Amino acid sequence: MADREYADVTDVVADWEKFLKRQYNKKERVELAKEFPHKRSLYIDYRNLEAFGRRGLALADQLVEKPEKVMADVKDALVRLGIIGEKDRRRVHIRFTNLTRKTKIRDIRSNQINTFVAVEGILRKTTEVRPRITAAVFKCLECGTITPPYPQSYGKYQEPFRVCAQCQKKTPLELVPEHSTFVDAQKLRIQESPEGLRGGEQPQTIDIDVTDDLTGSSAPGDRVVINGILRSFQRVNGGTKSTLFDIYVECNAIEVAEKEFEEVNISEEDEAEIHELSQDDKIYSKIARSIAPTIYGNTDVKEAVALQLFGGIPKEMPDGSHLRGDIHMLLVGDPGIAKSQLLRYIVQLSPRGIYTSGKSSTSAGLTATAVKDEFGDGRWTLEAGALVLADMGMAAVDELDKMDKEDRSALHEAMEQQTVSIAKAGITATLKSRCALLGAANPKMGRFDEYAPIAEQINMPPSLLSRFDLIFIMTDKPDSARDMAIAEHILKSHSVGELIEKKKRMPVEGVDDAYIEQQLKPVTPDIDPLLFRKYIAYAKRTCFPTIVPEAKEALRDYYLKLRDLADTNKPVPVTARQLEALVRLGEASARIRLSQTVDIEDAKRVIKIVDTCLRQVAYD
Ligand code: ADP
Ligand code: MG
Repeated sequence: MADREYADVTDVVADWEKFLKRQYNKKERVELAKEFPHKRSLYIDYRNLEAFGRRGLALADQLVEKPEKVMADVKDALVRLGIIGEKDRRRVHIRFTNLTRKTKIRDIRSNQINTFVAVEGILRKTTEVRPRITAAVFKCLECGTITPPYPQSYGKYQEPFRVCAQCQKKTPLELVPEHSTFVDAQKLRIQESPEGLRGGEQPQTIDIDVTDDLTGSSAPGDRVVINGILRSFQRVNGGTKSTLFDIYVECNAIEVAEKEFEEVNISEEDEAEIHELSQDDKIYSKIARSIAPTIYGNTDVKEAVALQLFGGIPKEMPDGSHLRGDIHMLLVGDPGIAKSQLLRYIVQLSPRGIYTSGKSSTSAGLTATAVKDEFGDGRWTLEAGALVLADMGMAAVDELDKMDKEDRSALHEAMEQQTVSIAKAGITATLKSRCALLGAANPKMGRFDEYAPIAEQINMPPSLLSRFDLIFIMTDKPDSARDMAIAEHILKSHSVGELIEKKKRMPVEGVDDAYIEQQLKPVTPDIDPLLFRKYIAYAKRTCFPTIVPEAKEALRDYYLKLRDLADTNKPVPVTARQLEALVRLGEASARIRLSQTVDIEDAKRVIKIVDTCLRQVAYD
C-alpha cells in the first residue's frame, strides 16, 4: 500500500537517478559509460540502497515486490544519465547483492513467487554451460516468409502457430538459428548447508536458472547466496499438465562465500567463557567428557577426536604446494561398539559437519561425479560428493570400507591435496575438499579374528591407510569389568530417559528438575555442545600456534624412533606423513589451550596418542 502511494507522488526513475548519482560521481559515470559497450552488468549493493534514506528504503521494498519493474526503472535512469543507450536495454543486466533478508530453502512459500529472494546454500550440482534460445525466428516453408522473433520461456520450446500469416497456408515452420537470439545458460542445484540443519534433518534443495555472464562462475561445493526472482512452472506428468507447480530461482546475482565459520556467531560473553575454559588445567579431560557422553569409555578415541575437531594449521609453501591442516582419522572396529553413534555425535559438534555412509551415500559418492541425466536436459552435470560438500568442515563417513572403487582412487587426492579433479566428457573441474575425514570401518571378515594379526584385517590398501593421521583399532573382547561398566552406563541413560518420558505424562513423586539433572550428570557433556561449537570456531579463527624448539626435538626424536621400529611387512607404513601428522596434532593440542605456541606438553600428549594407535598396526 505504502509503496503505491509512494509511486503515485514521486517519479521513481528520478529517485533511481539520484541514487545512482550518489553512488557514482560525474567522473565515475563518464568512465562507466565508456565501459558499457562491453560491460554486461551493473551491480547494486542493497545495503547502499537501504542507506539512501527513506526513498532508498522504498526502492529496496519495491525491488522485493516488483523486481522486473525495478530493473526497468534502473535502466531508464541509466539511459537518462547517458550511461547506457536505448538499444542497450535488452543486453544490460541490473544485479543486486547483499540483501539483508535471506530466505531458507525450506521456508520458501508460494506467496513469494515472482518476488525477489535471497537464498543461501551450498552448490550441489552444476551443468555445463550451453546456449538456450530466448527468441526464435521461423521461416514458412511454403512462401519463405520470416516470422517476427517469438519469445521462449524457461524449460519448453514454443512454436507460434500452424498457419503462416503471409500465405495463409497450414505449413511446417522451420527455425532460423542465425536470426534467433541465444543466451548462455546453466542450471544449478543448491541445498541447505550442514550448519543450518539440526538433528539429522535431510537437506532440502532448489534449482537455479543461471544465464549470460553469470554462467560458469561457481563450482559444486561453493557456499553461495543466490539472489533472484522466484519463478514457478507447471509440472507435466506423462504428457498431461498437473495442478502442481515446481519452483526455481531465476538468478540475478551469485555471491560466493569464502570465509570459514562466519556462520557461527560468537558474542563477547561467549568469548569470555571460551577464554576461561581454555585456561582450565583440566580442559583436555573436560573436552573428552563433552564428546558423546552417553558412550562409555573410548577415552583415547575421544581425546583424538577433540584434536581432530580443532585441527592443525594449513600452510602454503613457498614453492606453491599446500600442506593440509585437517586431521584424518579412521576407526576400525568390531560391530556394535558405538562407532556409528560416535560419528553421528561428532558431526554435530563440528561447525560444518556432514554424516554419510560409504555404502549408501548419494549418487555423487564421496568425491564427485559427472553424469548425463534428466537434471541437465541432456547436458553433463557435475555433482559434489560428501567430501566436497564438507569443504571447510568435517566429513564423517561410516562404513568407509564399503565405498565403491571409483571413490577409493579419488579419495587419495581428496585427502592429501584436498581437491577432487574431474575430467570426463565436456567437464573438467577441480573442486575443493578441505575437510577433516573421520572414517569408520569394520574389519575384513566383519569382526576381528583374535588369532590373526590385527593389521592384516583392515580392509584398505596401504596407500589409503597412510593418509590417515590416526588409526584406532576398537575390539570388542569380553572383559567382565568393562562390560559391567558399559551395562551400568547404558542402563542408567535408559532409565533417566524413561523418567523424563514418564514425567512428561504425569508428575512423579520426588522427581523434579533438580533430581533429573542430578541423575543425568554422568551422561551430560561438561561443555554445552553449542558453546563447544563456538569454542572450536573461535580457536580455528584466532589461534595459529608455532612449535617451540624443545617440542620440535621431541617430535623429531619420536619420529626417528618410529622409523627404526617400523615393520615394513605391516600394512600401515611409517612415512614422513607421520611426522606431518605429529605436527598437525601438536598444533591442535595447542589450539585447545588457545596457546600461540606448541609446547613440550603438547608434543608429549600427541606422541602418546600416536603411539597407542601405531602400536597396534605399524609395529609391535
Ligand atoms: P557400530 O557402528 O560400531 O556397529 P553402533 O554405533 O551402531 O555400533 O552401536 C550399537 C549400540 O550399542 C548403540 O545403541 C550404542 O549406543 C550402544 N553401545 C555400544 N557401545 C557402547 C558404549 N561403550 N557405551 C554406550 N553405548 C554403547
Ligand atoms: Mg555402524
